[in-house]
Amino acid sequence: MKITGYELFQVPPRWLFLKIMTDEGIIGWGEPVIEGKAATVAAAVKELMEGLIGKDPHRIEDHWNMMYRSGFYRGGPILMSAIAGIDQALWDIKGKYFEAPVYELLGGACRDLIRVYSWIGGDRPADVGIAAQEAVESGFTAVKMNGTEELQIIDSYEKVDQAIERIAAVREAVGPYIGIGIDFHGRVHKPMAKILAKELEVFRPMFIEEPVLSENNEALREIAQATSIPIATGERMYSRWDYKQLFNDGYVDIIQPDLSHAGGITECKKIISMAEAYDVAAAPHCPLGPIALAACLQVDATCHNAFIQEQSLGIHYNEGSDLLDYIVEKNVFEYKDGYVKIPNGHGLGIELDEEHVRKLSSVGHNWKNPVWRHKDGSIAEW
Ligand SMILES: [Mg+2]
Repeated sequence: MKITGYELFQVPPRWLFLKIMTDEGIIGWGEPVIEGKAATVAAAVKELMEGLIGKDPHRIEDHWNMMYRSGFYRGGPILMSAIAGIDQALWDIKGKYFEAPVYELLGGACRDLIRVYSWIGGDRPADVGIAAQEAVESGFTAVKMNGTEELQIIDSYEKVDQAIERIAAVREAVGPYIGIGIDFHGRVHKPMAKILAKELEVFRPMFIEEPVLSENNEALREIAQATSIPIATGERMYSRWDYKQLFNDGYVDIIQPDLSHAGGITECKKIISMAEAYDVAAAPHCPLGPIALAACLQVDATCHNAFIQEQSLGIHYNEGSDLLDYIVEKNVFEYKDGYVKIPNGHGLGIELDEEHVRKLSSVGHNWKNPVWRHKDGSIAEW
């Protein structure tokens, strides 16, 4: 079998889909995107695909190494997201060729379902108590929310109190045993992260996420000493080499590699397996589209330490176009009692509605995250 061509579709709300074609008529889909830089990743995909036309799609490890190593410069969100989407499409082709779900080709499933969580509260969390209650009523057993709005490197106890108030409202609304993930979103720096982690402990969160930016991961040492809340991070880390120091340091409890940002199925399976040897859990990051989610579920199926999956249904970014709009069999992502079944169709296990993809790619998008500033005019982390 040979790769004969590819097409890219930039579709709302903020996604990029890749279709790879073969001479045997089998096609594979991938989702190579970094939020806010879809066109840049598309350019990287075009450059990488030059090396793949005419090649056998089955040699995924070789293609991965060619894309990663042979360009001399490597890593980072753009290149690793481009590799990720191509890798997903190659696995989709392989699964369809062998008439098996990808998880069968990765060693077989070690679970039938995985727990999922729902986002509440948006960028600037408000009315989160009501939103949490609605999520629980619709069947979720875990939610995730932003912990704070902008927070300066040293900020006020007023903002700490506001964060406490919001999380108290959620805990109050959902009772003692619903999982609450609190995303600091890299908005918080070490001094305030220590305070928040300590103060929020009383609400027994499932985890705090990106308590500091991953470029400041050495700060996790002090934060871990300030709290017993599990610490999650990793959506802005892109390879085994980015993760290895984190594992050696030993202060992380949950890693969150993104299947569309960190080299795809091939790389994330390896990152999560590395984590397993350090007794670290995995909760893959996925506020993205249906192809990215399908890729996550295929890997979750085969990783013993995966315990929950992020998914974007109804997320604040998806207004106008949501997770299920682009797929034919919508019930493949049916959430029941807080869990989703691992899709067992061939390849990634979903069928794209290509007509809808084409139609919406003519609409396209130019999604960018907002630029936030502090009161003093300096740039704030979003
Ligand atoms: Mg996050």
